[in-house]
Amino acid sequence: MSPIAVKKIKKSTPPPASSAPVVVVVPASSPFPMWTPPVPLPYFILSQTYLNEDWTLYPKFGHHTGVDYGGHGQTDIPLFSCADGEIVYGNTADSPWGASLGNHCALYVPSVDRSFLYCHMSAPPPALGEVKAGTQIGIMGNTGKSAAGAIHLHLEGFFGRFVIAARAFTSLADIQTKTFDADQCIREHLSFGILTV
Ligand SMILES: [Zn+2]
Repeated sequence: MSPIAVKKIKKSTPPPASSAPVVVVVPASSPFPMWTPPVPLPYFILSQTYLNEDWTLYPKFGHHTGVDYGGHGQTDIPLFSCADGEIVYGNTADSPWGASLGNHCALYVPSVDRSFLYCHMSAPPPALGEVKAGTQIGIMGNTGKSAAGAIHLHLEGFFGRFVIAARAFTSLADIQTKTFDADQCIREHLSFGILTV
């Protein structure tokens, strides 16, 4: 009898051609405000879109409040400040908002008067204060109420300088008034950035 062939099950791999770390190089001086993706380029793909309707995943208002970038089973994926700005808020997974947002922080970008809330990070948030585009501000994780159930970055865009009270949504209309599509905003500004992989 010949031995039974055991088929190897392939583990899911990230979309990228290379798993080597991506270095975002931001020139010291630039005529334009610099913007970079919040995740390394191979992971700069939406796994969940803004306001995607799903009443099972989002039972309260039926829609996704931000955008998700999936980790595709990978760990230790760095998260970058998407533009020059200021970390204006941060809290840990064991804080009241952390129960849903995990370790989280908010980056305020004055050039567009908008804020970006990074959620589900694997470690406590960075210190408050100014950061440059491309500065690492965290590591992708799965803390808090991570609806996708896997390591990913949930990124929410807010108009103005972020305060946590703004996160207390009361309706879908309230979400639409306070937030915007963070992925779309970043992509609109990327043409001013220089990325070296
Ligand atoms: Zn999400």
